Amino acid sequence: MRLLAVFPHPDDEIGVSGTLAKHVLRGDAAKILWLTRGELASQFGETPPDEVARIREEHGHTVAQMIGAEAQFLDFADSSLTGGRDEALAIARVVAAWKPDVVITWNPQDVHPDHRAAYWATLSALKFCRIPKLVGEAHRQPVRLLHYHRSDIPRPTVYVDVGEDGQAVAEKVFSFYRDFYKWEYSLEAFRANRSRLGAEAGVKFAERFQSETPLAHPYLG
Ligand SMILES: [Zn+2]
Repeated sequence: MRLLAVFPHPDDEIGVSGTLAKHVLRGDAAKILWLTRGELASQFGETPPDEVARIREEHGHTVAQMIGAEAQFLDFADSSLTGGRDEALAIARVVAAWKPDVVITWNPQDVHPDHRAAYWATLSALKFCRIPKLVGEAHRQPVRLLHYHRSDIPRPTVYVDVGEDGQAVAEKVFSFYRDFYKWEYSLEAFRANRSRLGAEAGVKFAERFQSETPLAHPYLG
Protein backbone atom coordinates (compact mmCIF):
# COMPACT_ATOMS: atom_id res chain seq x y z
CA MET A 1 0.00 0.00 0.00
CA ARG A 2 1.18 3.52 -0.78
CA LEU A 3 0.36 6.65 1.21
CA LEU A 4 0.86 10.30 0.39
CA ALA A 5 0.47 13.12 2.90
CA VAL A 6 0.07 16.62 1.46
CA PHE A 7 0.61 19.65 3.70
CA PRO A 8 1.54 23.29 3.25
CA HIS A 9 4.07 23.62 6.09
CA PRO A 10 6.64 21.47 7.87
CA ASP A 11 5.08 20.51 11.26
CA ASP A 12 1.56 20.09 9.79
CA GLU A 13 2.35 16.39 9.51
CA ILE A 14 2.55 15.70 13.26
CA GLY A 15 -1.06 14.47 13.37
CA VAL A 16 -0.46 11.78 10.79
CA SER A 17 3.06 10.79 11.83
CA GLY A 18 1.99 7.73 13.83
CA THR A 19 -0.21 6.46 11.02
CA LEU A 20 2.50 6.86 8.41
CA ALA A 21 5.10 5.29 10.70
CA LYS A 22 2.88 2.30 11.41
CA HIS A 23 2.32 1.72 7.70
CA VAL A 24 6.04 2.00 7.01
CA LEU A 25 6.70 -0.57 9.76
CA ARG A 26 4.28 -2.89 7.96
CA GLY A 27 6.24 -2.47 4.75
CA ASP A 28 4.06 0.15 3.08
CA ALA A 29 5.48 3.17 1.27
CA ALA A 30 4.83 6.68 2.57
CA LYS A 31 5.69 10.07 1.24
CA ILE A 32 5.15 13.57 2.64
CA LEU A 33 4.73 16.39 0.17
CA TRP A 34 5.05 19.94 1.49
CA LEU A 35 3.69 22.68 -0.74
CA THR A 36 5.74 25.47 0.86
CA ARG A 37 8.73 25.73 3.17
CA GLY A 38 6.78 27.76 5.72
CA GLU A 39 9.21 30.64 5.44
CA LEU A 40 6.85 33.19 7.06
CA ALA A 41 6.65 31.41 10.42
CA SER A 42 6.55 34.08 13.10
CA GLN A 43 8.57 32.05 15.61
CA PHE A 44 11.73 32.88 13.64
CA GLY A 45 11.57 36.60 14.37
CA GLU A 46 13.97 38.61 12.21
CA THR A 47 15.58 35.59 10.51
CA PRO A 48 15.42 36.17 6.72
CA PRO A 49 12.76 34.08 4.93
CA ASP A 50 15.40 32.26 2.84
CA GLU A 51 17.12 31.06 5.97
CA VAL A 52 13.80 30.06 7.58
CA ALA A 53 12.94 28.13 4.41
CA ARG A 54 16.26 26.30 4.57
CA ILE A 55 15.80 25.38 8.26
CA ARG A 56 12.19 24.25 7.82
CA GLU A 57 13.02 22.17 4.77
CA GLU A 58 15.66 20.48 6.86
CA HIS A 59 13.01 19.86 9.55
CA GLY A 60 10.83 18.14 6.97
CA HIS A 61 13.62 15.85 5.88
CA THR A 62 14.53 15.02 9.48
CA VAL A 63 10.94 14.14 10.35
CA ALA A 64 10.43 12.11 7.18
CA GLN A 65 13.48 10.12 8.17
CA MET A 66 12.06 9.49 11.66
CA ILE A 67 8.89 8.17 10.04
CA GLY A 68 10.66 6.27 7.27
CA ALA A 69 8.85 8.30 4.62
CA GLU A 70 10.07 10.05 1.51
CA ALA A 71 10.10 13.84 1.57
CA GLN A 72 9.42 16.30 -1.22
CA PHE A 73 8.93 20.05 -1.32
CA LEU A 74 7.13 22.11 -3.93
CA ASP A 75 8.09 25.74 -4.48
CA PHE A 76 4.92 27.62 -3.53
CA ALA A 77 5.25 30.59 -1.21
CA ASP A 78 4.06 30.41 2.39
CA SER A 79 0.63 31.97 2.97
CA SER A 80 0.04 32.33 -0.77
CA LEU A 81 -1.91 29.14 -1.47
CA THR A 82 -5.30 29.55 -3.14
CA GLY A 83 -6.31 25.93 -3.73
CA GLY A 84 -6.32 26.74 -7.44
CA ARG A 85 -5.21 25.12 -10.64
CA ASP A 86 -1.42 25.61 -10.42
CA GLU A 87 -1.24 23.99 -7.03
CA ALA A 88 -3.61 21.19 -8.04
CA LEU A 89 -1.59 20.46 -11.15
CA ALA A 90 1.70 20.39 -9.24
CA ILE A 91 0.22 17.98 -6.67
CA ALA A 92 -1.37 15.91 -9.47
CA ARG A 93 2.03 15.37 -11.03
CA VAL A 94 3.36 14.04 -7.74
CA VAL A 95 0.29 11.82 -7.32
CA ALA A 96 0.66 10.50 -10.87
CA ALA A 97 4.29 9.60 -10.20
CA TRP A 98 3.90 8.25 -6.64
CA LYS A 99 0.61 6.40 -7.30
CA PRO A 100 -0.82 6.44 -3.77
CA ASP A 101 -3.79 4.38 -2.56
CA VAL A 102 -4.47 6.90 0.21
CA VAL A 103 -3.91 10.64 0.36
CA ILE A 104 -4.14 12.57 3.63
CA THR A 105 -4.30 16.33 4.00
CA TRP A 106 -5.72 19.20 6.05
CA ASN A 107 -9.44 19.64 6.52
CA PRO A 108 -11.30 22.08 4.27
CA GLN A 109 -12.40 24.42 7.07
CA ASP A 110 -9.25 25.06 9.04
CA VAL A 111 -8.55 28.66 10.03
CA HIS A 112 -5.25 28.88 8.10
CA PRO A 113 -5.96 29.66 4.42
CA ASP A 114 -2.98 27.52 3.34
CA HIS A 115 -4.49 24.56 5.19
CA ARG A 116 -7.87 24.98 3.52
CA ALA A 117 -6.18 25.54 0.16
CA ALA A 118 -4.14 22.35 0.56
CA TYR A 119 -7.38 20.40 0.88
CA TRP A 120 -8.99 21.93 -2.21
CA ALA A 121 -5.85 21.67 -4.33
CA THR A 122 -5.42 18.05 -3.26
CA LEU A 123 -9.05 17.25 -4.07
CA SER A 124 -8.62 18.73 -7.55
CA ALA A 125 -5.30 16.92 -7.94
CA LEU A 126 -7.08 13.61 -7.47
CA LYS A 127 -9.06 14.43 -10.60
CA PHE A 128 -6.16 15.93 -12.57
CA CYS A 129 -3.92 12.93 -11.86
CA ARG A 130 -6.29 10.80 -13.94
CA ILE A 131 -5.91 12.94 -17.07
CA PRO A 132 -2.90 11.99 -19.23
CA LYS A 133 -3.01 15.25 -21.15
CA LEU A 134 -2.32 17.04 -17.89
CA VAL A 135 0.13 14.74 -16.13
CA GLY A 136 1.58 12.39 -18.73
CA GLU A 137 1.34 8.85 -17.37
CA ALA A 138 -1.85 9.10 -15.30
CA HIS A 139 -2.75 7.45 -11.99
CA ARG A 140 -6.19 6.00 -12.56
CA GLN A 141 -6.52 3.62 -9.62
CA PRO A 142 -8.96 4.55 -6.84
CA VAL A 143 -7.48 6.89 -4.24
CA ARG A 144 -9.07 7.35 -0.81
CA LEU A 145 -8.88 10.93 0.45
CA LEU A 146 -8.68 11.46 4.20
CA HIS A 147 -8.39 14.77 5.99
CA TYR A 148 -7.65 15.91 9.52
CA HIS A 149 -10.69 15.65 11.71
CA ARG A 150 -12.92 18.60 12.49
CA SER A 151 -16.04 17.95 14.51
CA ASP A 152 -18.32 20.27 12.51
CA ILE A 153 -17.69 18.46 9.23
CA PRO A 154 -20.33 15.76 8.74
CA ARG A 155 -18.18 13.02 7.25
CA PRO A 156 -17.30 9.53 8.49
CA THR A 157 -14.63 9.56 11.19
CA VAL A 158 -11.68 7.22 10.76
CA TYR A 159 -9.50 6.28 13.72
CA VAL A 160 -6.13 4.70 13.16
CA ASP A 161 -4.89 2.57 16.04
CA VAL A 162 -1.26 3.68 15.93
CA GLY A 163 -0.20 1.27 18.67
CA GLU A 164 2.92 1.70 20.80
CA ASP A 165 5.18 1.76 17.74
CA GLY A 166 3.33 4.48 15.87
CA GLN A 167 2.88 6.47 19.07
CA ALA A 168 6.62 6.29 19.78
CA VAL A 169 7.43 7.78 16.37
CA ALA A 170 4.72 10.45 16.73
CA GLU A 171 6.16 11.44 20.12
CA LYS A 172 9.61 11.67 18.60
CA VAL A 173 8.31 13.93 15.81
CA PHE A 174 6.32 16.07 18.22
CA SER A 175 9.26 16.41 20.62
CA PHE A 176 11.57 17.39 17.79
CA TYR A 177 9.36 20.35 16.88
CA ARG A 178 8.47 21.17 20.46
CA ASP A 179 12.12 21.42 21.46
CA PHE A 180 12.92 23.58 18.45
CA TYR A 181 9.97 25.96 18.81
CA LYS A 182 9.87 25.76 22.61
CA TRP A 183 6.12 25.10 22.54
CA GLU A 184 4.31 25.25 25.83
CA TYR A 185 2.21 22.23 24.85
CA SER A 186 3.87 19.38 26.70
CA LEU A 187 4.64 15.86 25.59
CA GLU A 188 2.35 14.66 28.38
CA ALA A 189 -0.53 16.73 26.98
CA PHE A 190 0.22 15.45 23.47
CA ARG A 191 0.18 11.86 24.74
CA ALA A 192 -3.00 12.43 26.77
CA ASN A 193 -4.80 13.83 23.73
CA ARG A 194 -3.89 10.84 21.60
CA SER A 195 -4.83 8.51 24.41
CA ARG A 196 -8.23 10.25 24.58
CA LEU A 197 -8.69 9.71 20.84
CA GLY A 198 -7.68 6.10 21.35
CA ALA A 199 -10.27 5.71 24.12
CA GLU A 200 -12.98 6.93 21.74
CA ALA A 201 -12.18 3.95 19.52
CA GLY A 202 -11.29 1.42 22.21
CA VAL A 203 -7.53 1.40 21.61
CA LYS A 204 -4.57 2.84 23.47
CA PHE A 205 -3.47 5.60 21.07
CA ALA A 206 -5.15 6.83 17.91
CA GLU A 207 -4.97 9.44 15.19
CA ARG A 208 -8.26 10.70 13.86
CA PHE A 209 -9.25 11.62 10.35
CA GLN A 210 -12.34 11.94 8.22
CA SER A 211 -13.04 10.24 4.94
CA GLU A 212 -14.77 11.65 1.89
CA THR A 213 -16.54 8.33 1.52
CA PRO A 214 -17.56 5.66 4.07
CA LEU A 215 -15.12 2.80 4.60
CA ALA A 216 -16.33 -0.74 4.08
CA HIS A 217 -14.61 -3.34 6.24
CA PRO A 218 -14.31 -6.86 4.86
CA TYR A 219 -15.48 -8.31 8.23
CA LEU A 220 -16.77 -6.94 11.52
CA GLY A 221 -13.69 -8.08 13.37
ZN1 LIG B 1 0.46 24.63 8.63
